[in-house]
Amino acid sequence: MQSPAIKQALGILKKLRQMSENTDNVEHKLVEMLKIITEAMQAEAATCYVVIDGNYLEQFSSYGFSSSPYKSRLRFGEGVIGEIAQNKCSVAINNIWNYPKFSITSELNERDYHSLLGAPILQWNRTIGVLAVFHSQETEYSDVDVELLETIAMFLAEIVNSPEMSEYKKSLSKSRGISTRERLKGISLNKGYGIGTAVVHRRRQLVTNIFAEDKSKEHLRLEVANRQMNEDLDAKFANTKLGIGEHVDILDTYRMFAKDKGWYRKISDNIDGGLSAEAAVERAYEDMWNRLSGSSDIYLKEKLHDLRDVSDRLLSYLSGDNRSTSDIQDKEIIIVAQTMGPAELMDYDYDRIRGLILEDGTPTMHVAIVAKALNIPVLSKIKGIFTEIQNGQRVAVDGNDGFVYINPSEQVEKHFRKKIADREEQAKKWALLCDLPAITKDGQNIGMYINVGLPLDFEYIETTKCDGVGLYRTEIPFMASETMPNVDKQVAHYRELMRKCDRKKVIFRTLDVGSDKLLPYWSYGGEANPAIGWRSIRITLDRRTILRQQIRAFIEAAEGRELYIMFPMITDIEEFKDAKETVTLEIEKEQKHGRQIPSDIKIGLMIEVPSVLFQLDEILPHADFISIGTNDLAQFMFACDRGNPKLLGRYDVLSAPFLNAMKTIIDKARQYNVYCSVCGEMASNPIETLALIGLGYRNFSCSGSAFGRIKSMIRSVNCAEVEDYVQNLLKSSRATLRPQLIAYAYDHGIEIY
Ligand code: PEP
Ligand code: MG
Repeated sequence: MQSPAIKQALGILKKLRQMSENTDNVEHKLVEMLKIITEAMQAEAATCYVVIDGNYLEQFSSYGFSSSPYKSRLRFGEGVIGEIAQNKCSVAINNIWNYPKFSITSELNERDYHSLLGAPILQWNRTIGVLAVFHSQETEYSDVDVELLETIAMFLAEIVNSPEMSEYKKSLSKSRGISTRERLKGISLNKGYGIGTAVVHRRRQLVTNIFAEDKSKEHLRLEVANRQMNEDLDAKFANTKLGIGEHVDILDTYRMFAKDKGWYRKISDNIDGGLSAEAAVERAYEDMWNRLSGSSDIYLKEKLHDLRDVSDRLLSYLSGDNRSTSDIQDKEIIIVAQTMGPAELMDYDYDRIRGLILEDGTPTMHVAIVAKALNIPVLSKIKGIFTEIQNGQRVAVDGNDGFVYINPSEQVEKHFRKKIADREEQAKKWALLCDLPAITKDGQNIGMYINVGLPLDFEYIETTKCDGVGLYRTEIPFMASETMPNVDKQVAHYRELMRKCDRKKVIFRTLDVGSDKLLPYWSYGGEANPAIGWRSIRITLDRRTILRQQIRAFIEAAEGRELYIMFPMITDIEEFKDAKETVTLEIEKEQKHGRQIPSDIKIGLMIEVPSVLFQLDEILPHADFISIGTNDLAQFMFACDRGNPKLLGRYDVLSAPFLNAMKTIIDKARQYNVYCSVCGEMASNPIETLALIGLGYRNFSCSGSAFGRIKSMIRSVNCAEVEDYVQNLLKSSRATLRPQLIAYAYDHGIEIY
């Protein structure tokens, strides 16, 4: 059964289409369209706004007003129109004069209108405009009215983005003084420089055929497209270059999603309601988006990205435009996407990717994890980039400072080429350092370990010739798995690492999940403050079986070698003792069963909760080692969410309060003769590691990709001198001591880049 709104919409859209085909003048066409819409909605006036530059709403056209009730340009969130654009939700107001958000401007000189019905014009779930109709009488809008206007808005998306309207939009912006931007600022998700030809990632197909009368034909089209898509995905996954491990698990999860029956059923139901297969796919996505986008659950939000990815892929199969990108010949490409699933990255030849720009990207997004592992600079949060960049344009990505240059000048290109060449040269030099000892100028040996999580990180164990693994984030294989890995599966992961490390030390951190690291198969129950909520050791002490199984897996994977176990987020001594006791019990159990146990077991903890700083005298006598998680320690000390881009750079670990805290820890560790290292990001950043050396730290665990840089700094520093210098900084009241430390490094020839 066709819904009443769809039935009504069919007639209106037919009229709009006819008019659109028979009229050449764009401006006239827009007014005529709004006239049809006004009459069809039995309203007196209508207006249509479009989004320019990803930032503003410009009045595109209006009909029926003696003067417009709005300014010609609005911000997102400004007035009712701005509110609709921001919330991506329709609004029905029977009396606009009582509506708090209604903004009256000087243009409005008559109180002609009482009611307003507005709908966002969405494309791929992004607001590209707003359509609103006005009634002079107070009007109670029904659900059918809302659905009708939304359906018309869906059609308008096609019109607004047609080449002819895009041109018109540009001329409109120009005449109103809006310039196209050439250097855009974003947030870096991965460092590096890249320059190449823009490949706008499968700019999503516009759904032009919204309705279909022949349902059985649409069902058949859907079935064929879905089957083909899944067959191709199966083939693609079988040939993946990524090898075994976490990435494949992520991609597998994605593939399972593509085969999800509930999703398919929803699309079928939409076809039964009168929509074309394409519109049915879009509607299924929008429904899901409406349900999940408000959730604070990061995992659910990530799922939306996956669903967008699968929906786009299916749309491309429905349109027959599912050819691979292999016909793009350029040797160096920059991929630009609104959002992207990890599987889509596999459509490209990795060797050619020089950068990835995501309009809506977050660091926990799966595609960002994969891109980082592949060493591709990644930028995100650049409003409007997806619509701004055209296929084939030159683009330069600066992943260090977070800039994108569109059509860079010759000078900028030259500058980038130099940066890229410098980086390559530098990487070669760093690689040569791997055979040299990590020893300072005044002869101090520094322990250099790496942090691992992804299987791709394992390669760094050999290439860097590091002393071992200072932090194995065991939650990463858990996060990428579809179900809780059992003991055998865990043993396989851990054993692979142990064998790769041979006799080198490996510190296994027990499961550190919760907050932003969520397991897909667990419900976390929507905590108000997840970063300080039920997470990490708190979970594994409450769900003791998980901890016990993990310890058993560590013991088995050690195959009789020395074993290091570290507990994260320890907040008081009781927790540490409790966790330690669990290890003791597991060892006893293994012994009782006559199984092989490690030659020695060292048990330590992460120092990342400030309360522990005040219990070091109690805890350290019980610990074999400690490692400082500076990421969390800084987050808790400064009460500053480490994942919030708004707070980026607001507080600095290179300031007296934080450095004094770090000093307290190393001094106590020395007093109790407890091995102490740093495994947070400070140990991957040369200038910050320099400060830590100045505080007395001598062991670091950094990311594999930062290893060369850190070693180079270590080999150029004089420990005794920098200790003297840092001592003087500890009393400073400056918010950041970074400039002082950088100046010191320059003056003393210390390599910090
Ligand atoms: C830290 O908090 O510094 C740390 C190393 O742990 P993670 O980043 O995994 O929370
Ligand atoms: Mg941490």
